[in-house]
This record gives sequence, structure tokens and C-alpha cells, in this order.
Amino acid sequence: TTVVNVKDVQKVFGKRNENQYRALNGVSFNIQEGEFVGVMGPSGAGKTTLLNVVSTLDKPTGGAIQIAGTDITHMKQGQLADFRSEQLGFIFQDFNLLENLTVYENIALPLSLQGVPSRKIKPSVQEVAAKLGITNILEKYPATISGGQKQRAAAARALVHEPAIILADEPTGALDSKSAKSLMEAMVHLHKNHHVSIMLVTHDPLSASYCDRILFIQDGELYKEIFRKGSRNEF
Ligand code: ADP
Ligand code: ADP
Repeated sequence: TTVVNVKDVQKVFGKRNENQYRALNGVSFNIQEGEFVGVMGPSGAGKTTLLNVVSTLDKPTGGAIQIAGTDITHMKQGQLADFRSEQLGFIFQDFNLLENLTVYENIALPLSLQGVPSRKIKPSVQEVAAKLGITNILEKYPATISGGQKQRAAAARALVHEPAIILADEPTGALDSKSAKSLMEAMVHLHKNHHVSIMLVTHDPLSASYCDRILFIQDGELYKEIFRKGSRNEF
């Protein structure tokens, strides 16, 4: 099944009669359930803009986007907030962990915000922490753990409510190469063994090498799509 359907999406910044900038110019692609898709391209190509419109944080000025069968293009802000908290998981470069909460409480956040009772939250947090190998740091505070551990905690938080897709923007950007590699291996594990769908924006070739498919964006357009060895086409 198709998890993300992006159809002829446009994004023009700036008002009419002003200096307008066309950041996305008719981008179309699908992401299937359980697929791990990378988005690459030069700086200023439109990668972040694309991630922002797919993640519902920004509205496209043209085209349509469906996620998990729902058309999000014309949803109102309030509905979008609910949609995001149910269907999307986010991982950012700078972790976005809350410093005054423990790792456990950070991971639990998407569920506690949805009003899930704490007795139901506990097994979900423990399961996802086990998947990411961070069971031993659940009682620690973010300030006391490594960058790699922070990013695993952030990945666990993105995953705990079983979203339709994980959206990741340069998640390895602040990590040393060893932590970056182990984070990517954790993501591949989630994707392979737990059928998690991931859209990953990166300019790091190592991170990209873990993806099934890479979308290359340039000047706001999808100009090339390549598949990894073992899938349909090859690098
Ligand atoms: P990338 O992530 O590939 O580096 P971006 O999506 O951040 O590219 O940006 C694509 C282009 O759109 C850039 O030229 C950028 O300056 C422009 N842009 C991004 N956001 C805005 C905005 N809010 N207003 C005006 N221009 C923007
Ligand atoms: P990155 O390099 O990580 O893509 P950017 O510096 O391109 O980050 O963008 C950082 C933020 O600033 C984004 O939210 C983007 O939408 C916004 N932005 C980028 N370019 C412009 C611009 N020309 N005018 C206004 N906002 C912009």
C-alpha cells in the first residue's frame, strides 16, 4: 500500500507582485509501506521545503499530498495538529529532546499528549526502547547521555505511537561517524524487521547508502530516482 502520495506539488514563497521564489516546481512521487526513501540534492534544492510540506508543517501552493489515504492538502490547522500527532513521527538534526524530562518521559510524550493512560504507555516505551537498544538509559536525562544515545531516544519517540511514516531531517548531522553509522543501522533494523516507512533528507552519502531508493531534488524538481542494489535498479 501507498503511505505517501505526492502529486505535482508546488511551493512558491512570497506574495504575488513581490519577489517570488519557486522552491518546488511540480514534484511527484510515492512512498510504499515499509519503504526507506532518501532525499538528496544540493543546498537550496528544496529538500527541506519538500519535507516540510509532506510533514504538514508547511502548505504547498499547488498539487496534492495524501498520507495514509488522507488528503492533507486542504486540512485545517487544528485537524493537521491531530493528524501529525497520530500519523507522523519526526526526527530532527538537533534531537529536540526536552531537557527536564527523562529519556523515558521524552519517548512517552507522543502517547501522553494523546491522553493514553500511563499503564498502557509503559509497555510501548519499553518495546520501542528495546528495539533501539536504549533500555539502560531510560531513567537518565538528555544532558547526561551521548549524541548517539540522544538520537536513538529521539528515534524511539518518533516511533512509539506507531506512525504511518517517520520523517527525518539530517538525523546524523550532529553525530560523529560511529554514532551516525549505528543510528542508520538502527533505522535499517526498524525498516527491515518492523516494516517502518521512512523519508530521510540527507546530504550524507553514508546515510543515503542505507536507503532503498533515493530521490534527487534539484532546483525544486525531482530530476533523478535511483534504487539500491538488490532492489529494482542499482546504484
Ligand atoms: P534545501 O533543504 O534543499 O537546502 P530548502 O528547501 O531549504 O532547500 O530551500 C529551497 C529554496 O527555497 C532556497 O532557495 C530557500 O532560500 C528558499 N526558501 C526556503 N524557505 C523559504 C521561505 N520561508 N521564504 C522564502 N524562500 C524560502
Ligand atoms: P537547511 O540548510 O537546514 O535546509 P535553511 O537555512 O535552508 O536550512 O532554512 C532554515 C529555515 O529558514 C527553514 O525553515 C526555511 O524554510 C527558512 N528559510 C530558508 N530560506 C529562507 C528565505 N530565503 N526566506 C525566509 N525563510 C527562509
